[in-house]
Amino acid sequence: MVSRVIPVETFDLVIFGGTGDLARRKILPALFRRFQAGQMPEESRIIGAARSEMGTKEFRAFVGEAIGEFIPAEEAPAKAVENFLRHISYVAVDARGTDGWSDLSAQVRQDVIQAFYFSVAPALFGDLAERLHEHGIAGPESRIVVEKPFGRDLESAHALNATLAAHFDEHQIYRIDHYLGKETVQNLMAVRFGNILFEPLWNAQYVDHVQITVAETVGVEGRGAYYDLSGAMRDMVQNHMMQLLCLIAMEPPSQFEPDAVRDEKLKVIRALDPVAPAEIVRGQYKAGNGRPSYVEGVENPDSRTESFIAMRVDIANWRWKGTPFYLRTGKRLKSRMSEIVVTFREPPHSIFGEEAGKSANVLVIRLQPDEGITLRVTIKEPGPGGMRLVDVPLDMTFAEALGPDADDIPDAYERLIMDVIRGNQTLFMRGDEVEAAWAWTDPIIAAWSDKGDRPLPYETGSTGPEDALMLLHRDGRRWREIEV
Ligand code: NAD
Repeated sequence: MVSRVIPVETFDLVIFGGTGDLARRKILPALFRRFQAGQMPEESRIIGAARSEMGTKEFRAFVGEAIGEFIPAEEAPAKAVENFLRHISYVAVDARGTDGWSDLSAQVRQDVIQAFYFSVAPALFGDLAERLHEHGIAGPESRIVVEKPFGRDLESAHALNATLAAHFDEHQIYRIDHYLGKETVQNLMAVRFGNILFEPLWNAQYVDHVQITVAETVGVEGRGAYYDLSGAMRDMVQNHMMQLLCLIAMEPPSQFEPDAVRDEKLKVIRALDPVAPAEIVRGQYKAGNGRPSYVEGVENPDSRTESFIAMRVDIANWRWKGTPFYLRTGKRLKSRMSEIVVTFREPPHSIFGEEAGKSANVLVIRLQPDEGITLRVTIKEPGPGGMRLVDVPLDMTFAEALGPDADDIPDAYERLIMDVIRGNQTLFMRGDEVEAAWAWTDPIIAAWSDKGDRPLPYETGSTGPEDALMLLHRDGRRWREIEV
C-alpha cells in the first residue's frame, strides 16, 4: 500500500504564542513532520509571533531545538531541518499593545491561505482577533485556530464565542480537540459507517453498555495552579470524552461533511440526561511512589478539585434508552491508557447450556497506547471435551493490517493543522456544540460545589476510588482493566 499525501495550497501560518510550550512540544514538531511528508508547498511560510523579544535567527534556533527534542534524530536529518527552517520567521508582537503589528502585517501575504493559530491564553483571543482586523491582516477567508480550554462554563464559553464572532465567521473558526485528530477516532467512524455489520446492532437493543476510559499515570506536575481551577470534569469530560461519546452515539450523518457531522454530535449532547450526584464518583490522588499528593501538587491543602471522575451517563433518545455510557478519567492511575469499549448483549438464548459458559461480543477501540480496534468474538475452545465457548480477538491493529505504512500515520496535531489549511472543519468543534456541552456540565459541577463535596482519596497507581467500581457493580457490570 502506498501512503497518499494530499497536496495543500501555499499558506502563511502565524503561530501566536510561537515561543510557548504547546508550540514547542506539538505544533512546530507536527509542522516539521508534514514538511518531511512533502505536504508543505515550497512558498509556504510559518511565522512565529509572541511577546518574547527575539529575531528570526533565534526563533529558528528555538524551532531546531524543539525538533531535536521531540522528533527522533533519524527522522530529522540536519539537511531537512535546515530546509524546514528556511520557511520560518519571527515577529515580536504584543497582543494587547501596538508593538509589532505593522511588521506582521508586512509579512503576511493576502494572496495565499492565511491561518492564525491562537496558542496563547484565551484571555488574549479577543485582543488578537481585534488587532488582526484593525491592521488589515485577516480577511473573510482567514482561518483561526483556538485551543482548549474553551471557557470554564457556559457563560464564559458563550462570551468567548461572542468575542470571536465579532471578527470571524463560524466557518473561519477551528476549535481544536486533539482527540478528534487521532487516527483511531476517525477509524471509529469508518468502522461504524463503512461496514454494514455494526450499524444494525448499534443501539440499545443490542448494546449492553459503553465504557470510555482515559487513564493517565502523570499527576498535575507543573500545571497545578491551572489544573486546580479546572479538574477532571472540565479538563477531560466536557471536551474530549464528550466528543468520543458523541461519535459513538450519534446518528449516521448524511455525509462526512463538517456541518452534517457536527449537527449529529450536537443532537447527542442535547439528548444527555442530567446526571444525579449518585451517578458520579470523584477522587483525588494521595501521595505515593515518592510523588506528592494532589493537594501538595496544587499547593492548596483544602482543594476540593477532582483528579479522577467516573460517571454513568444516559442518553434520552430512541437509539440509546436503557444503554448506559460509563465515563472514567483520572491522573496517577495504574497505566496510561485510553479506550472505548462497546459491550454487546449476550445472545438471547444459549443453545450450548450453562456449562459452555457465557459470552458477549466486545468492540474495543484503543486510542493509546497502540492505537487499534479489536472485536472480541466467541468461538469453541479447541480440542475435545465438549462445547466450551471462548472469546478471541479479531484484531484490526493498524500496525499489522497496514504494514510499514502504519508508521506514517500522522499524529493528531499534524492532521488537524493540515485540515485547517485545507479548510476542512469536520474534526473541529462548532461553537454551539461547545456551549451545549457546558450547558450539560454546569449543573453537575454546581451540584457538588453547592454541597461542598470532597473528592474521595485514592492510591497512586490504582484504578481510582473503590466507589468507582461500585458504580458498575451496582448495575451488574464491571470496568475493563486499566492495563496496556
Ligand atoms: P505558554 O505560557 O507556554 O506560552 C504562551 C505564549 O504566549 C508565549 O509564546 C508568550 O510569548 C505568548 N504571549 C503571552 N502574552 C502575550 C502577549 N501579550 N502578546 C503576544 N504573545 C503573548 O502557554 P502554552 O502552554 O503554550 O499554551 C498556549 C495555549 O494552548 C493556552 O491557551 C493553553 O491553555 C493551550 N493548551 C496548551 C497545552 C499544552 O500542552 N501546553 C495543551 C492544551 C492547550
